[in-house]
Amino acid sequence: PPAVATRGLGLTIGGARILVDVDLTVPAGEMLGVIGPNGAGKTTLFNLISGVLRPTAGTVELDGEDVAGLSITRRARRGLGRTFQTSSLFPQLDLVENVRLASQAKEGAAMSVLAFPLASDRATVTARDCLAQVGLSHLETVAAGNLSHGDKRKLEIAVLLATDPSVILLDEPMAGVGSGDVPGLTEIIRRMHRERGCTVLLVEHHIEVVLGLVDRVAVMHHGRLLACDTPEVVMADATVQSAYLGEGA
Ligand code: ADP
Ligand code: MG
Ligand code: MG
Repeated sequence: PPAVATRGLGLTIGGARILVDVDLTVPAGEMLGVIGPNGAGKTTLFNLISGVLRPTAGTVELDGEDVAGLSITRRARRGLGRTFQTSSLFPQLDLVENVRLASQAKEGAAMSVLAFPLASDRATVTARDCLAQVGLSHLETVAAGNLSHGDKRKLEIAVLLATDPSVILLDEPMAGVGSGDVPGLTEIIRRMHRERGCTVLLVEHHIEVVLGLVDRVAVMHHGRLLACDTPEVVMADATVQSAYLGEGA
């Protein structure tokens, strides 16, 4: 089964149609870009997939199973991981502690008091490993609040990796970073996808970055899915071009 599938997915709030009839199928292991003008519904789509919001129409399936009855936490335990458009770091804690919290939360349910020191060591090893994967080993003992914007975005990815997700939703992972940090973050995402074989859904405004990274790209506009195909096909699509030119995005 596909890693993620939505069928007829819709969200109407107070009469406003925020998401309309979205059918999206993401095969396991694919990297899918999700683009579209501001307000198109990209974050809403992620909120519906991860369980932050409940749809008013349609279904979300993970690995072929309808997850309507599953909370955010239970979807996360099944391997769904996401970052948020705004930072969710603990600024006063150092980098190892930030990442450890995530891996301990994953193991926490099964952890007895006696097993705690052992599990705690394992969480530290995992945390250091995840920091190495995003190139932040040299800053392990720095407080997260003192990082540059680019390094905060890298730390958010390390926190995500600590939960060992099989499906990763990245919502504007390069938001707020200087252009000098874009190539490094791009390479981290590329390597994460290649080495872990995970499924990735990537929302990002740096469109040239998206087109260079992904297998396919989904285009959203006014809550609808306009197109979903390879970057070459999608960018040659007249409907897509007029949607973008029309909104100046
Ligand atoms: P994007 O991530 O593509 O920029 P969003 O998914 O954040 O777009 O928002 C899509 C539209 O839905 C926007 O017009 C936004 O104002 C609206 N919206 C999002 N969440 C809510 C909500 N909880 N209540 C009302 N409107 C919302
Ligand atoms: Mg937006
Ligand atoms: Mg958004």
